[in-house]
Amino acid sequence: MKNQKSKAALEAYTEKVRSGEVEKPVTLTPIEKARQNPKSLRAAINGKCFDCCCGNRAEVSRCQITSCTLHPVRPWQRT
Ligand code: SF4
Repeated sequence: MKNQKSKAALEAYTEKVRSGEVEKPVTLTPIEKARQNPKSLRAAINGKCFDCCCGNRAEVSRCQITSCTLHPVRPWQRT
């Protein structure tokens, strides 16, 4: 029942996006976010780590380069 409602809602949303009634939200990468907000140190760190790991957030969370000065403040840490 719930799954059917979800499917119907998704189809309705998809149709609205196709027809132009609703604009699909733009998802920015951490690098693009940093460029949009050049004064934010958090955005800069997120963008650097994202770039360092070739765009793979999971790799950033598993980063073992403890000698890197950004390591203690890197994003997407699990612990
Ligand atoms: S903390 Fe890790 S992922 Fe971030 S810049 Fe340093 S080495 Fe790269």
